[in-house]
Amino acid sequence: MKIDLKSLRDEVNYLNLEGTADSLGLKIEWVEFSSPVKVNLRVLRSGKNYIGEGKVETVALFECSRCLKKYSQPLKADIRFLLKEEKDQIILESEDRENLAQTGNFFKLDDLVRESLILSIPLKSLCQEDCKGLCPTCGTDLNVTTCECKKEKNDPRWEKLKDFNTEKK
Ligand SMILES: [Zn+2]
Ligand SMILES: [Zn+2]
Repeated sequence: MKIDLKSLRDEVNYLNLEGTADSLGLKIEWVEFSSPVKVNLRVLRSGKNYIGEGKVETVALFECSRCLKKYSQPLKADIRFLLKEEKDQIILESEDRENLAQTGNFFKLDDLVRESLILSIPLKSLCQEDCKGLCPTCGTDLNVTTCECKKEKNDPRWEKLKDFNTEKK
């Protein structure tokens, strides 16, 4: 995924870039990136400086950490950067990373795009906020149906509590 600086003739330029996770080197063991990665950028040009800002978007497939079901979730990230043309180099400066220098007229945004997406991945992967998960005893998906395991464990205690209450009265 690269920017052709020669194509940025105007003061304000709009770019739509698209790439695959593979081409961006985006690889995480527990996430599947099957959708294209889209980048929409607005690049302001002032002489040999280019200020870019925009959005990175894709849809990833996660495995729920409670019920192990696969579910898809959109990932979105904002990117901002400054490109400077200096002699035969293009230097990228961005807020929280080291400067990157590349030679030629094109600038590859792969590193920036990949990192922004990785940072946008939620810490918890849950198919839904209140996923009930799998029964630890029998493996039943408790979102779909119930099982007997919990009941058996709890019943005696409830019975005792009932007795206790009636005795008091
Ligand atoms: Zn789940
Ligand atoms: Zn069970």
